[in-house]
Amino acid sequence: MTQRRPLIAGNWKMNCLRADGLALASGLAAKASEKGTLGCDILVCPPATLLSDVVGVTKDSAVGVGGQDCHAAVSGAHTGDIAAPMLADIGAGYVLVGHSERRADHGESSTDIRRKAIAAHDADLVAVVCVGETEQERDLGATLSVVNGQVAVSVPDGATAKNTVIAYEPVWAIGTGRTASVAEVAEVHTAIRAELVKRFADGNEFRILYGGSVKPSNAAELLALEDVDGALVGGASLKLEDFWKIIETCA
Ligand code: PEP
Repeated sequence: MTQRRPLIAGNWKMNCLRADGLALASGLAAKASEKGTLGCDILVCPPATLLSDVVGVTKDSAVGVGGQDCHAAVSGAHTGDIAAPMLADIGAGYVLVGHSERRADHGESSTDIRRKAIAAHDADLVAVVCVGETEQERDLGATLSVVNGQVAVSVPDGATAKNTVIAYEPVWAIGTGRTASVAEVAEVHTAIRAELVKRFADGNEFRILYGGSVKPSNAAELLALEDVDGALVGGASLKLEDFWKIIETCA
């Protein structure tokens, strides 16, 4: 069995003003430092307004920082966007690409997401490539073909287990309180793993996170699955105690 160090990632989405965000990040950094040896890597993805300050307050801790999106270009006339080298420049190490909220709200296609992942790699960032089916696609029995199709197009050929993490997030489970069953998660993660192994020499070493209403009460059973190598956590990552309990599941 390949040992993959779990990654517990918090996606703050469009939440937190400065005081709350810095309290959350510094509280997390303090807990991580107090604990010393951790059973997982920790990542937080704050809104862009807080990235630089969160990098500052987590600097000497085990807490990594990532952006929630990046543009595919390195610079240029793209009002409101952030380039991957800008994230790297302020000390971020990761970036989420292809979150379903961006696919839905901003019409991002898997091709767009592949370009963003390439931009992330070129800037030496780890790309967390998000995939997942809608409820309608699941009801139609299309889950595996949709997810495998998203992985095939969104993950660039230059991906490695070091520069890329996959996050499987069924759209119907995000922010809804509904979690996919252990069997549903296992089926999709096994299918993603098979695709990665077919395509990449180190496909067995990629981390595949599960996301979708992960909370302290369901984290242990999800994280115990063979091909679940961590979690992408939205709502529960905004509560220090809850996020910490999920992290401690990996201890
Ligand atoms: C997410 O934002 O990626 C997510 C999984 O959100 P939640 O945990 O709130 O469902």
